[in-house]
Amino acid sequence: MKSVKLGLALLSLVLVSNTSFGQKTVPTQKYGCSTEMPSNKVMIEDTAGPTRGLADNYYLWDNGKTLYVKFLSGSPQLQEKIKSIVKEWEQYANLHFEFVTVGASNIRINLDDKGGHNSLIGSLANMAGQNEKTVNFDTTDFRTYTAMHRTVLHEFGHAIGLLHEHYSPIAGIPWNKEAVYADLRKTQGWDKETVDVNLFQQYNLTYTNGTKYDRASIMHYPVFAKWTTNGYSVDWNNQLSEGDIALVKMLYPKDGERTNEVPRFTVENYTKMDVVKNTAKQGFSLFPSFNMVTKGRQATVYFIAFFYDKDGNSIKKETNTYSINNSAATFKTFTLAPGKNLSANKQTAKDFELFIPYSELPVPTGSNNIQVEFRVYLMDKKPDGTSELKMLYASKRVNSSFIKQ
Ligand SMILES: [Zn+2]
Repeated sequence: MKSVKLGLALLSLVLVSNTSFGQKTVPTQKYGCSTEMPSNKVMIEDTAGPTRGLADNYYLWDNGKTLYVKFLSGSPQLQEKIKSIVKEWEQYANLHFEFVTVGASNIRINLDDKGGHNSLIGSLANMAGQNEKTVNFDTTDFRTYTAMHRTVLHEFGHAIGLLHEHYSPIAGIPWNKEAVYADLRKTQGWDKETVDVNLFQQYNLTYTNGTKYDRASIMHYPVFAKWTTNGYSVDWNNQLSEGDIALVKMLYPKDGERTNEVPRFTVENYTKMDVVKNTAKQGFSLFPSFNMVTKGRQATVYFIAFFYDKDGNSIKKETNTYSINNSAATFKTFTLAPGKNLSANKQTAKDFELFIPYSELPVPTGSNNIQVEFRVYLMDKKPDGTSELKMLYASKRVNSSFIKQ
C-alpha cells in the first residue's frame, strides 16, 4: 500500500468535520444588541437576481423524504411549540417531519439548559447513534417566542442541509476579526477557533447553487457594525426570508426533480469495528460494520482507518507507506455508481477488511495503547475539473493493544 497525499484537501477535512455540527452556539440576545441599535448601512451591493443562500448539496436528504423526528427530553408543551415551528419548513420544502416517540428516527432533539444550539448538517445525522441527539437547544435562551422561533428555524435549516449564510464566498463581509475575537471571548467565552468555525469560514462558490448572498436569511448570524471595518451590519433575522424559501424550493422541489444533483452517499447502520490481531498476516485486520447507500452521481470513496496513540494523538508516520498526511492509516478506495445499497460485514461476517502490518505501525508494544477510528470520505470529481472531498462518517475510536503475536 502506497501512502496517499489527499493533500490540502484532507487537511481541510478537519474543518469540515467541525462544521458538520453547525454552530456550537447560536448568538442570542446574550451578546447585547438590545443595548445598541446597529446601524444598517448596506455596504455590500446586492446585484440583480434572486437572493437565496448556501446549502451543502452533498448532505441533502432525498427529495420528498419523510424525516422521523424524536424528542429526547422536554415538556410536552415546549415540544408542541417546537413542532409547529419546524413545520414551517414543510410549507416550502418537499420534506415531511413526522414526530415519533418510538422506533428509529432520523433527527433527535435534546432540550437542555446548556450545550448551546446546534445541529448536524442534513444527512450527516446518520453519524449519530439512535440514542444520540442530532439537534440540541439550550432552552434558557427561549425567553421570548421570537428567540425560540428564529433558533428552531435556524437549527432545522441546518438539519435539512443549509449552511450559515455568512459563509457565502460572495457575502464579502469586511470583518474586523480582532474586534470579533475580543467581543465574543468576553461575551460568549468563545476561543479563536470557535469564532473561526462559526463566523469566518468560506465555502466554494458552488455551494451557492448559483444564487446571491442573502443578508435576510434565517441562516445569517447578526453582524454588529463594530465587527466590520466599514460599519456593515446585519440585524437579527427572525423569519424565513424570501431567499430561504426560494432556496429550499429549489433543493426540495414539490414539482419536478432537484437540479444541481451531486453524489449523495450515506454511511448508515455503522455498529462497530472489530480490530483483530492477524497472526498469519502479522498485522491488524479491521472489520468495520456498516451500510452505504449511493445516490446522485458517481464518486470515489475512501474507507480509512486512522491510528492514534493511547493519548489520542495521531501516530506520526512520514514514510511513504500506510500513511495519510503523515499519519498512520490504512484504506481502501472504490469508485461507485449511484443507486447502490452496499453492506460491509453485515450479511456475511468479515466480507470487508482493512489491514495494516505490525511493521508499519511505529508504536512500542503495550496493552491498550492504540486507538483506531474508521472514517469514510467521498471524492467528487466535478464536471468543471475541480474536485471536492467530503467527510461522510467518523466513528468513535476503538481501543486496542499493540502486542505482536
Ligand atoms: Zn447555525
